[in-house]
Amino acid sequence: MVVDLHTHSTASDGSETPSALVEMAVSMGLSRLALTDHDTLEGIPEARAAAEPADLELIPGVELSLDYQGGMHLVVLWLEPGAGPLQDRLVSLRAGRSLRNAAIVDLLVGLGMPITLEELAEEGGGGSVGRPHIAAVMMQKGYVSSVAEAFDLWLSADKPAYSGRPRMTPEEAISLAVASGGVPILAHPHTLGINRAHEMAQLLTRLRSAGLVGLEAFCAGYRRHEREGYADLARRFGLVASGGSDYHGSYKPGLALGTGYGDLEVPDSAVDLLRAHAVRP
Ligand SMILES: [Zn+2]
Ligand SMILES: [Zn+2]
Repeated sequence: MVVDLHTHSTASDGSETPSALVEMAVSMGLSRLALTDHDTLEGIPEARAAAEPADLELIPGVELSLDYQGGMHLVVLWLEPGAGPLQDRLVSLRAGRSLRNAAIVDLLVGLGMPITLEELAEEGGGGSVGRPHIAAVMMQKGYVSSVAEAFDLWLSADKPAYSGRPRMTPEEAISLAVASGGVPILAHPHTLGINRAHEMAQLLTRLRSAGLVGLEAFCAGYRRHEREGYADLARRFGLVASGGSDYHGSYKPGLALGTGYGDLEVPDSAVDLLRAHAVRP
């Protein structure tokens, strides 16, 4: 059975609504789907309502951007919407996200590429808005020829229209996730920018002792030996090898739900191993 434990909807920066995402998962024959929007659980109720009659197991989740050198993403699965230590923290993080969008809009205006917060909100379709939406608006207005160009020239770290925002440390996020009954998983580890084995070992030891449960090994775009390498790394550090497509709809062209670039296969067994760590507080 095909499972996907990392996807995005219009509740953050995906192009499909939560229910459209679920319908797609059902039509593709997926048995389990985790919705892991950035910093928000807002899409979960809609996704769950769509999944129930279709006999698809919907795993509620979120993806967090953490304070770490070149950036670190943490997927937290089985995090329920409502009140809780991490859930409450997400509310203040979202406020930080809108302040940051306003700062970037100001920078773009100053650089002669005016866009407005209204245009951004419209592009976001009612969900939380981030840099991919800003890039899309810049493209529509003819300031850049592609979303990638918007990032390369203007929006990436150290580029003229970059603005940072407050982020949790890995330890803070992991302990809040655990305290909230969620299962923390280190996402797409290649983006950490770590090339040396001993540095990766140090980091995993540090995160494991903070309560990390899983490590994504089954990511779209990884070659077979990379997936095996990360799965092996997970085993050595007592972590569960997880993964998913990181589906964003039309914001990541060519990438399919479930199968990624065609060769992705997240083992069904990962779900049960991860679920064993999900404890209701
Ligand atoms: Zn990510
Ligand atoms: Zn993601």
